[in-house]
Amino acid sequence: MLAEFRNGYCSHPDRDRNSCSSTITKAHTIQKKGGLAAIAEAGHVLTVKPSMKELIKTEGKPAPRKIGVNNASVFPGFCSKHDNDIFKPIERKSLSLTNEAAFLFSYRAIAYEQFAKAAQFKGNEIQREADRGHPFQIQVMIQTSINSMMAGIMIGMRDVDGWKRKFDDRLLSGARDDFHFLAIRFDQVLPIVACGAFHPEFDLQGNPLQRLGRDNLDFDHITLTVTTFEGQTTMVFGWIGNDGGTARALANSFHWVDDHRKADALVRLLFTQLDNLYLRPSWWESIPVADQNTFIDMIKSGTTMRKRSGNDLVDDGKLLVQANVVETISG
Ligand SMILES: [Zn+2]
Repeated sequence: MLAEFRNGYCSHPDRDRNSCSSTITKAHTIQKKGGLAAIAEAGHVLTVKPSMKELIKTEGKPAPRKIGVNNASVFPGFCSKHDNDIFKPIERKSLSLTNEAAFLFSYRAIAYEQFAKAAQFKGNEIQREADRGHPFQIQVMIQTSINSMMAGIMIGMRDVDGWKRKFDDRLLSGARDDFHFLAIRFDQVLPIVACGAFHPEFDLQGNPLQRLGRDNLDFDHITLTVTTFEGQTTMVFGWIGNDGGTARALANSFHWVDDHRKADALVRLLFTQLDNLYLRPSWWESIPVADQNTFIDMIKSGTTMRKRSGNDLVDDGKLLVQANVVETISG
């Protein structure tokens, strides 16, 4: 399964026209120099993606573990040429929060999710072999559970493939008229960075936005990137399509959170919705064990182990991250 994840390809829509360079790079979803480096300690950050060893050792409740910044947030999803060409504008030391910059953050998040879903699919195919040598009833159990997981993954792949096609079209054409975003800059470095895309299910006040798990429907997506430039964390929501849909509803609900509560709201949203997130080790160590356990539980949201709930996103009054907002741009 790990080998499948390492097996890369280029996500650029022109990849079939021999426009790629020969090497597939370990593309960072969060820029290494400014983003990861700003929260790293002794070259390490914490990841919430569990290792199989940890999963077994902790009986399914793994705590965030250390990972080197060279390996954090990377995926072999672009050739070096396209990785460089596409993302150069958002890999600089400073950033101005333009529509184009927001589009590129979103594009990378979608490419990452597409890659991760495909790897998950291949990994599950491998798991099918795990029933070998077991009694018949156990084999039935394993195959049934894999079948329902595969059904879910396939709906996920269909969605993310559709999102990626929309982003590809606009990457090539330069059209940005139906791309929308909300970007917020904080006055300091938050102890967390992240990049990914998800289906908005609940807003920050806990209200339902769209009900998933139904086939043959088009679900709205939203991307979320959190990274740091020049000592200040920036978060960017982005999506293509309807500006009055669930993605805007989620972005608005975030906008309505009091400025001094936004950093905490962001951390809860990230733990509930994304797995490609990284933490500053000393921050994690500094928060109460009860809160650590709450976050560890939240990571499992939306899996068979834990239903996603709007309550997770509602302000719980806890002050775990302190920051103020210095800039908000909506487009
Ligand atoms: Zn390429």
